Amino acid sequence: SRIPLVAGNWKMNFDHLEATYFVQKLAWLLRDAHFDFSRCEVALMPAFTALRSVQVLVEADNLKIRYGAQSVSVTSQGAFTGDVSADMISRLGCSYVIVGHSERRKYHPEDDANIVDQVRAVLAAGMQPILCVGESFEERRQGIELEFAVGQVRDVTRDLSDEDTAKLIVAYEPVWAIGTGMVATPDSAQEAAHAIRSSIREQFGSSVARTMRILYGGSVTSRNASQLIEGADVDGFLVGGASLKVDEYAKICRLA
Ligand code: 13P
Repeated sequence: SRIPLVAGNWKMNFDHLEATYFVQKLAWLLRDAHFDFSRCEVALMPAFTALRSVQVLVEADNLKIRYGAQSVSVTSQGAFTGDVSADMISRLGCSYVIVGHSERRKYHPEDDANIVDQVRAVLAAGMQPILCVGESFEERRQGIELEFAVGQVRDVTRDLSDEDTAKLIVAYEPVWAIGTGMVATPDSAQEAAHAIRSSIREQFGSSVARTMRILYGGSVTSRNASQLIEGADVDGFLVGGASLKVDEYAKICRLA
């Protein structure tokens, strides 16, 4: 009943011209393959500088490809040099915003309180947050990876309403699997997604738990996507490196 989502996190890659070219080519490839967007959502997360170009293209060609941003300011306007508000992002036709990616947590002062505020800002602007969680190698070594990821989700959802939580998308992205070529096994991706969904069920009940989409991220490619998606609780992917190669990305979309 949950529609899978394949989301490409471009990170700091592609200027607006490269982004436009990519989206055009992806649309052709998916059309050629008779891709059914009612059975799988496809999204891309360009840099802020490319969002307007992607919007113009998507609207002009009436594309079903969705898009979003990679982070957001927690405030709505004012003297915050360099920040971009949720309303600004939503006016560009964005459906999603990635929140709490491990690279943001590492290189910017994004702590749990800030991440909760980003989630609220995204929801208030009518978009869906894609909340990234996942353990580092150290937690996995200690065997506490499930508690860790579940705890990260709980820290953010603690004060959210049922309605807001149902709109949240969680991406389980073990940090050791990001950009390393070391992918989680299908069993461990499923185990983590299942643990997160069970914890949501305890907090918010089964209807919210059934609605919430949980993605896997970390070295997803066209060679591992079909096994990973077999997990009953895995509802799609957040793809980094492989979302920069259009043929490869189209293939992943078709496998989801
Ligand atoms: P890779 O797919 O390059 O491992 O990156 C995953 C990621 O961080 C997506 O947000």
